[in-house]
Amino acid sequence: MTTFKTLGLEDVFLQAIQDMGFETPSEVQEKTIPLLLQQETDLVSLAQTGTGKTAAFGFPMLQKIRVESRDTQGLILSPTRELCLQITQELKLYGAHLKGLNVVAIYGGASITDQAKKIKKGAQIIVATPGRMKDMIGRGMIDISKIEYCVLDEADEMLNMGFYEDITEILSYSPEDKNTWLFSATMPKEVAKIAQEFMHNPQEVTVGAKNVGANSVTHEYYLVAARDRYQALKRLADAHPDIFSVIFCRTKRDTQKVAEMLIEDGYNAAALHGDLSQNQRDLVMKSFRTRQIQMLVATDVAARGIDVDDITHVINYQLPDEIETYTHRSGRTGRAGKTGVSMVIVSKSEVRKIKSIEKIIQKSFVAKDIPSGMEICEKQLFHLASKVAETEINHEIDPYLPAISQVLEQFDKDQLIKKFFSVEFSRFFNYYKKAKDLNIPDLSGSESATGGNKKSKYSIRFFINLGRKDGLAWMDLKDLVREVTGLGKEEVFHVDTMDSFSFFNTDQNQYDRVVKAFDGVFFHDRPIEIERSDERGRRGKFKSGKAFGKKFKKGKYKNDADASFSAKRGRKSGSTSTFKGKGRRRGERPDVPGTRGKRRRR
Ligand code: ADP
Ligand code: MG
Repeated sequence: MTTFKTLGLEDVFLQAIQDMGFETPSEVQEKTIPLLLQQETDLVSLAQTGTGKTAAFGFPMLQKIRVESRDTQGLILSPTRELCLQITQELKLYGAHLKGLNVVAIYGGASITDQAKKIKKGAQIIVATPGRMKDMIGRGMIDISKIEYCVLDEADEMLNMGFYEDITEILSYSPEDKNTWLFSATMPKEVAKIAQEFMHNPQEVTVGAKNVGANSVTHEYYLVAARDRYQALKRLADAHPDIFSVIFCRTKRDTQKVAEMLIEDGYNAAALHGDLSQNQRDLVMKSFRTRQIQMLVATDVAARGIDVDDITHVINYQLPDEIETYTHRSGRTGRAGKTGVSMVIVSKSEVRKIKSIEKIIQKSFVAKDIPSGMEICEKQLFHLASKVAETEINHEIDPYLPAISQVLEQFDKDQLIKKFFSVEFSRFFNYYKKAKDLNIPDLSGSESATGGNKKSKYSIRFFINLGRKDGLAWMDLKDLVREVTGLGKEEVFHVDTMDSFSFFNTDQNQYDRVVKAFDGVFFHDRPIEIERSDERGRRGKFKSGKAFGKKFKKGKYKNDADASFSAKRGRKSGSTSTFKGKGRRRGERPDVPGTRGKRRRR
């Protein structure tokens, strides 16, 4: 019979196991513990909730670390504050007989100074939520440059909650040769992608049947003043140009009122409630199914019969009286293998209800900010641009073309684009130009509501004309930027690589240094082009190209041997215009300045 002893655990741990009353290892423990004890390997472990995953990674980590050292050797990332505390608690029990062990929990909603103090005493293991962890690394409060083991617990849930970029950034501060152990209940595409990007030939352990993405609904809440409810709804709709949604109100009256206001404001909306005749209801549902209506405002009773599969968002304009009803509402989205979002607009007096709902649905909410007017304008602009790019030409226009061309012939392409967007866009810009911030501070203790990344407020986002097609993954790009500018690894952040261009951030006061450093630098035979992403087009480019004879040092790249760049300073081939536009392929959507990497909150 398998026992904890035969799995290879040492006496100090067997003692703790006895104290806790665990008799036999669970299946995931049986499969995982010996493997992790015997090998230095990356691991993907799939098992349902409640199968004992904490012990499956906890014991091997505790047995492998050197408790006599004060260095942080293990990092565990988990999606919520509750889980973070739970894991910390469990690890302390597992290591109860291990002298000198210090496990510290790092999460939002509690004093960052207190947490920093605990870290300073020397924590061999840190259990953290991604948001706060990133903050503390950014402030130099935590050093994970020596960790040997990194656990991504409930990886599917972390990705559901939008932590991808935070995780990416955190891992960029950790050593390349650590072991990464990923635990997840499901294996959706996104998790597979993490495994592919951050792990090296991971071993795989599966307990029970592989479950592909059962948790398809993400839950978000937005805290606003009660009087701003309707404005908030409009912004949520405007920030999702392709929204196809059901909006829930509490009463028939509110349902009718909200639908009327939306229609008046130019949205494709309609009301669905019990005061309508059967015929009227049938008509509304038909328009909804055929997408003539994008926003269906409904009461709970009337929405019961909605069987539409592609609903992207459920918006709780008001929370239901019976919080159990929330499950029915959110169940309208995320159907038929699709993902969906359930959003709740709450006022201060209702925010505690979120906690009760979390208990019922057994999932955590993400506290999010209502997008600002400018963010919405950017979203809409780029949405329109990609729509134009994807539109097939309608040849019924052909006969009118000569006349139309005559009207517009005096304008070149650039001007036409500007004019076209101005026509389409004045409504949004005028409406949102002076739009106020609708968010109010959230004191509910939720992880994501605790201030976001202060750094990004004072940072600059750069565009650079190198990307994945140049063989550069984000880590390579970060290395390249660091090598050219001489900046430290914490001074270059939010690195996002696209196919043929990328973005990165630095502190605002590094602006001149970065621009100067890239002046005249080539990537192979191509001049590197770099500009502020928010001023793209407005300011023009920083011209590289003075003639230097100095040879630039070849870079070392951790990940990809082919990605080494032969940057050199030399005579620039051709004028700026020869590489202008080369960096960006047609149809590729440029980054929306200032929103990437902060999608979850700011
Ligand atoms: P998961 O991470 O898979 O959701 P947990 O690690 O949180 O599961 O474990 C669920 C519960 O089971 C915890 O209360 C834990 O203490 C308990 N548990 C774990 N392993 C065993 C075991 N081998 N025998 C008895 N109880 C266990
Ligand atoms: Mg767990």
